[in-house]
Amino acid sequence: MRVLVVEDEQRIADFIEKGLTESGYAVDVAADGDDALAWSDVVDYDVIILDVMLPKRDGIDVCRTLRTRGVGVPVLMLTARDAIDDRVRGLDSGADDYLVKPFAFAELLARLRALTRREPVLMNTLLRVSDLTLDTTTRVVERQGAAIELTNKEYALLEYLMRHPNQILTRSMIAEHVWNYDFNNVTNVIDVHIRYLRRKLDDPFPTRLIQTVRGAGYRISSRPESS
Ligand code: CA
Repeated sequence: MRVLVVEDEQRIADFIEKGLTESGYAVDVAADGDDALAWSDVVDYDVIILDVMLPKRDGIDVCRTLRTRGVGVPVLMLTARDAIDDRVRGLDSGADDYLVKPFAFAELLARLRALTRREPVLMNTLLRVSDLTLDTTTRVVERQGAAIELTNKEYALLEYLMRHPNQILTRSMIAEHVWNYDFNNVTNVIDVHIRYLRRKLDDPFPTRLIQTVRGAGYRISSRPESS
């Protein structure tokens, strides 16, 4: 999941970025409203965390502009404790939810999970491909009932594949949703992580779920391989 964090207070931005990265999200940070619009123009984010009080253009304006441009990305707005008016204006501007500062990180994670399953396809918290399951709430991955330990990045990559079963995902699509902007040579990094995943998820089992589509990318599928 690729997240844009829009927050001008460095301390809070760092706290959110660090926590989300540790939870397997790919995070970009924008420090003002113009920067936020510029980023969301070029990256197809899975969710945006948007502070209301921002330099140049406030969060309300950013959200309204996104919606006017037809960008439907889920938006979680961060508001000040006593600013009830901000919450109302935030929701009216097209935000999907809000969180009052200061907040517990666990609550931020729970809100993000709720927002990213709001799309009908993502309603289910348990993703399944054949005998492989991934629980987006507990982050438990099992194949044939046996738990499989994954690193944060492996988990994030697998979750992205499993949210789009049977679809060819190009390396640039994977890069955009699983890695953030700071990553160099991401193509190679993706291939390496696919190899790690296969070692854990596919090698011990008779059927291979992660498939290479030659010249295109990767796909997770229980259907027989054909490319
Ligand atoms: Ca702020």
